[in-house]
Amino acid sequence: ADRGASPLDVTGRVRPALAGFEPYDPAFTPCRINLSANENTHPLPASVTEAMRAAAVSCALNRYPDPMANDLRDLLAAWHGVERANVMVGNGGDELLFNLLFTFGGPGHALVTCPPDFSEYANFAKMCETPCVEVWRDANTFEVDADALVDAARSASLVILTSPNNPTGNLLDPALVRRLLDETNALVLVDEAYVEFAGTPSHLGEDASLVCWVAGCPRLMVLRTLSKAFGLAGLRAGYLVADPAVIDALASIRQIYSEDVLAQAVAAAAVSRRRELVGVVADVVAERERLAAGLAAIPGVEVWPSAANFLLVRLPGASRVRARLRDEYSILVRDFSYAPGLADCLRLTVGTREENDRLLDALSILAREEA
Ligand code: PMP
Repeated sequence: ADRGASPLDVTGRVRPALAGFEPYDPAFTPCRINLSANENTHPLPASVTEAMRAAAVSCALNRYPDPMANDLRDLLAAWHGVERANVMVGNGGDELLFNLLFTFGGPGHALVTCPPDFSEYANFAKMCETPCVEVWRDANTFEVDADALVDAARSASLVILTSPNNPTGNLLDPALVRRLLDETNALVLVDEAYVEFAGTPSHLGEDASLVCWVAGCPRLMVLRTLSKAFGLAGLRAGYLVADPAVIDALASIRQIYSEDVLAQAVAAAAVSRRRELVGVVADVVAERERLAAGLAAIPGVEVWPSAANFLLVRLPGASRVRARLRDEYSILVRDFSYAPGLADCLRLTVGTREENDRLLDALSILAREEA
C-alpha cells in the first residue's frame, strides 16, 4: 500500500479485527495485452454499444439515483422469471458479497467456502468478523467433497459455492446444492459470475442456470454480474436473485445510492439487448477451446478444462514465466503459484484470437526455456 510519509500511526485506532489487513491486490501492471482479471476483451456489437451510449447520454446527473434500481430490477426479474422482490442490484457482485457477509455473517455465524476459490470470500468474511470454514477441493480435479461440505454446512450460517469456479473453471454439480438445501439449514449462495460461458442452452436467453430454483428454494441465493459476459467490468453492476426476505435484509443495510445513475441506465440497456451478446459469448467459448488445445500442445504445460472465460494452467517456473510474459512480451496474466493448492499455476483470461495467438507464441518459447 502507498502509505506516503504520514507521521500518523493508526494501528491502535483501526478496528481490532482488521489489524494487519492488506488490501486486495489485483496485481495490475499496464501491459499491451491484459489477460489477468477475467474481463471480456471481445468487442460488443455496435447495436449494443450504441444503445448503451444513448442511455448514458440521457442520464440526469444532478439527481440521485433510484436507490433500488427498480427499472433494472424489473428487466432482470423478467429475464429470470422471478419477481422484482427477488432481485437486488449492487455495485458489482463484490458489493453484494460484502453485504451478504455483513448481514448474515459475524461472530458465531460461520461461512463455509470451498477453496481454491475467489479470495474475496475469505477477505470479506474477515472484515465482517465471520469465522470461515474451508472445505478444500480435490487437489487434481478441484471437485468438491460433497460429504465433507454437507457436514461442515450443518453448523454454518452461510455456504458460498462458485459455478464455474474461479480460478479452477469447473462447474458445480447441482445435486450438491440440492443436498445442502435438504440436509442443512444454511443459506446457500451460488456465485454464477461466469455462468454465461458455461454452454448450451445460452444463459443469455431464457435462463437455465440455478436462478430457476430460487422461487422454490427460499435459502438459495444466486449471484450474477455484468462484469464478464456483458463486458462491463468498468461499469460496476452485479445482482443477486434470492428470496424476498433475504433481499429485504440486504436492503436494510446497503449504501442507498451505491448503484449510480449511469450504471443503472447503461446496465438496463445492455440487459435489454442481451440476446445480441450471444455471438460474443460463443466467440469467447470457441477461443477458450482453441487456446486450451494450443496450451495442451506445449510440452510441460498442463491445462484444466474450463466452463468459464479463463483457463488454469500448471507449468514449471510459473512465477518466472508470468514475470517474463509481462516484462518481455507485455502480456499480463494472473499468478496463483503462491496460493495453497495451486503451486506453479497461472490463470489465463481468454482474449481475442490475436491476443491468444500472442500468448501461445510467447508461452511456447518461455515454457521451453524454463523447462
Ligand atoms: N465472483 C467471482 C467468482 C468473481 O471472479 C468476481 C470477479 N472477479 C466477482 C464475483 C465479482 O465481480 P464484480 O464485482 O465485477 O461483479
